[in-house]
Amino acid sequence: MSLLRKYRKAVLICLMIISFSMVISTVVYAKEVFINVNNLNVRSGPGLDYDVIGQVHEDESYQALSEQGDWTEIQLENGPGWVTNEYTTFDETQEDTSSKDQEALEQTDTQTITVLYDDTNIRSGPSTSYDIVGSTNRGEIFDVIQLKDDWYEIQSEDQQAFIAKWLVDPGSHQFTQIENNSLTNKKIIIDAGHGGVDAGAIGSSGNYEKHYTTVTAEKLASYLDMLGAEVIQTRPTDYYMSLSGRASVANAAVADAFISLHYNSTPEIPTASGVNTYYYAEHDQQLARNIQAELIKTTSARDRGTHQENYQVLRENRRPAVLIELGFISNETEENHIQSTVYQQKLAKGIISGLNKYFRE
Ligand SMILES: [Zn+2]
Repeated sequence: MSLLRKYRKAVLICLMIISFSMVISTVVYAKEVFINVNNLNVRSGPGLDYDVIGQVHEDESYQALSEQGDWTEIQLENGPGWVTNEYTTFDETQEDTSSKDQEALEQTDTQTITVLYDDTNIRSGPSTSYDIVGSTNRGEIFDVIQLKDDWYEIQSEDQQAFIAKWLVDPGSHQFTQIENNSLTNKKIIIDAGHGGVDAGAIGSSGNYEKHYTTVTAEKLASYLDMLGAEVIQTRPTDYYMSLSGRASVANAAVADAFISLHYNSTPEIPTASGVNTYYYAEHDQQLARNIQAELIKTTSARDRGTHQENYQVLRENRRPAVLIELGFISNETEENHIQSTVYQQKLAKGIISGLNKYFRE
């Protein structure tokens, strides 16, 4: 990391601390947070850059102190800590409906925004006089934290940043206008790997592969739906399904593509990372190549390439079929990325972009 980047990071962290304290002081909470997974990391601040200071577990509940982006501050026995909202639910009946909360809701009339132009700057504060902390491109979607002086505060990777309101479209509908959308009316089978008693691999956090494949399948399904594709999920909820059963869903539906989603794990090599895509039939190599290439573009993950492999779910598939290993959950850093909403969006967009290219060719 260069000195300039270090400096920028330091400035950003200072700004983040200032903005956190502002948020905390203006929003009153009386909510309870329920934890939905085991071994969920509790961090010292609202982001993956912060230290892990403990863990919480499924079916436990805590008082919420404040919220920041996709993170909630909870009260633990030995003090406050932060958990990601991905694996928690709020007790809605106890939600505070004070005027302050209402105000916060009205300030932000949208949950997500889509960037309209390539090379759009994002800044450390809500005006052009603030430092540029990064840049983004047309079609990128961000979760919105708040609207401030015609600038959206957005969740960008592990940092908060601002983007001008006039450079974005509210919502994620821009996604339906991707150039040469060839996905309309395509029948896509999304196969979330594992499920039920078959938990798949276990991540460094203790979370199961089947959980992550379900999260990605949901995201992918919602984006494909926006693009006019007909989506069928082999297992829309968490239950066991045989490999033959999964392949037969694609065969019976005469699907245009079958996408099996998996996450990798090699606890003996905790630094292993990256994405790879498998195919079985020779004629599915192009589908695998397109998806692999686009996934690497959107995620910047390590490119582990495409490989021909005799996997049952591919072998028994008579439709164009690939199996993607979307990253290593045994690698703590990569698993942290995989746990974030922004990274899940990148995975879904990469797969969609690859499918779009495949159908166009
Ligand atoms: Zn798997």
